[in-house]
Amino acid sequence: MTPDELRKLDAEIHQEAMGIGPACWCGSVTDGYCPKTGECNRCGQKVCPHYSTDIAAAWKVVEKITTDPLWDFILVVHPHETEAIFRDANGTDFTGYADAAAEAPLAICEAALNAVRFHAKIAKGEAG
Ligand SMILES: [Zn+2]
Repeated sequence: MTPDELRKLDAEIHQEAMGIGPACWCGSVTDGYCPKTGECNRCGQKVCPHYSTDIAAAWKVVEKITTDPLWDFILVVHPHETEAIFRDANGTDFTGYADAAAEAPLAICEAALNAVRFHAKIAKGEAG
């Protein structure tokens, strides 16, 4: 994924998995925001954590989803692939993959979006 695609994923996680709200979608904003407010100078949205590349930020996503004790989280590091799995109360797995252990945050974010989007559909009666 490109840096811009990763930042778009970060913003999607910020809104859909963390439930914090909209975040900057401008891509790889590094200097285009106000250090006082944390707001992007272009779109005015908050600049969000780097969930897809920072393991500390990604772990907040794991903690948020597993706040519900019916959810499990499994991280499997294979020799050439890292797999992140959120398992819901029905035993359904939502999986994300990355090429290397160092990219575990990306796997976590992809699994989290799969999980929260599926469950958002169920909540709206569109799946289940
Ligand atoms: Zn922005």
